[in-house]
Amino acid sequence: MGRPATATINLDALRHNYRITQQLSGSGQVMAVVKADAYSHGATACATALADVARGFAVACIEEALELRAAGIKQPILLLEGFFEPSELAMIDRYRLDTVIHHQYQIDALVAEPLDHPVRIWLKMDSGMGRVGFAPDTYRAAWEQLCALSCVKDIVLMSHFACADEADSEHAQQQLATFNAYTQGLPGERSFCNSAGLLALKDARGDWNRPGLLLYGVSPFTEAHGFESKIQPVMELSSAIISIKDIPAGSSVGYGSQWTAESPTRIGVVAIGYADGYPRHAVNGTPISINGYRVPLVGRVSMDMLTVDLTEIPNVQIGDRAILWGKDLSVAEVAGFANTIPYQLLCNLNRVPVEYH
Ligand code: PLP
Repeated sequence: MGRPATATINLDALRHNYRITQQLSGSGQVMAVVKADAYSHGATACATALADVARGFAVACIEEALELRAAGIKQPILLLEGFFEPSELAMIDRYRLDTVIHHQYQIDALVAEPLDHPVRIWLKMDSGMGRVGFAPDTYRAAWEQLCALSCVKDIVLMSHFACADEADSEHAQQQLATFNAYTQGLPGERSFCNSAGLLALKDARGDWNRPGLLLYGVSPFTEAHGFESKIQPVMELSSAIISIKDIPAGSSVGYGSQWTAESPTRIGVVAIGYADGYPRHAVNGTPISINGYRVPLVGRVSMDMLTVDLTEIPNVQIGDRAILWGKDLSVAEVAGFANTIPYQLLCNLNRVPVEYH
């Protein structure tokens, strides 16, 4: 019914990918990263589908955490950026959330307003990301301040990779070495790996690993790594062809008349555009899968539509489905044609109804 654009989410694939991350983690635990509405896969649906296996869930902010608690999620929920204002501490207390502490102002807030219940803190070191976290030489002092607080139950020592998605990243090795050096002798669990770290940096796999993208069946690497056949894409983004027309050589297509047919061409119009999150910067030739064939995007992506060259496909009809990304066409590949990353394409999804099976 209605507009045919749909994101279809395969929750069995999500569970399958979770098992892969658990295998990679060995004796370590997996905290499933479901921030940004589970990278647009639906945080509540994904967390519920993983509730019997996942050891915890990670989100970006209190609002995302409360959505999961409201859905009945009982596992630990980690605020990956911690809290932004001291007033949020009451919610952390009430909903028993884990929180990252990455800055002195957060410790000061905890000192000023100790929580009623014990809380688990994830103390973040900036080991080379250059973003949030305590500098290595201030990390131990931060840890000592937190240890002195009676409401602090456990402190997980954590950091985050900047370049784990690059092959043989020296920077990642350097980060790991820094983290290990400055946490040496400190008791407590350790957590470093995102998806790329979990896949590529065996030595970094810790007590807790925090995969996001991998759970959704997408590779964090630009180059093939060999594990891709083991994971299953969770989302299929599709829509339907709503118009087909034959144009002569020399006719142009779309805004800016930026693509011109060199020979007689059959143009299909697909009901999806940049207002849905399909990247406007996808170049001519970006593949789109129709009836098992890959056809090229031609012309500029519009707000609600895009155009493809159907000339080579037999028997194509109005109403046939066009797969923008999914099983045979990975979102990572599409991202390459739009000079972006799969994270952004997934998170930018908008307006498209999400269906689960
Ligand atoms: N850990 C932290 C601190 C993050 O910010 C993120 C995502 O940005 C992740 C883990 C998950 O990353 P990925 O989706 O690459 O596995």
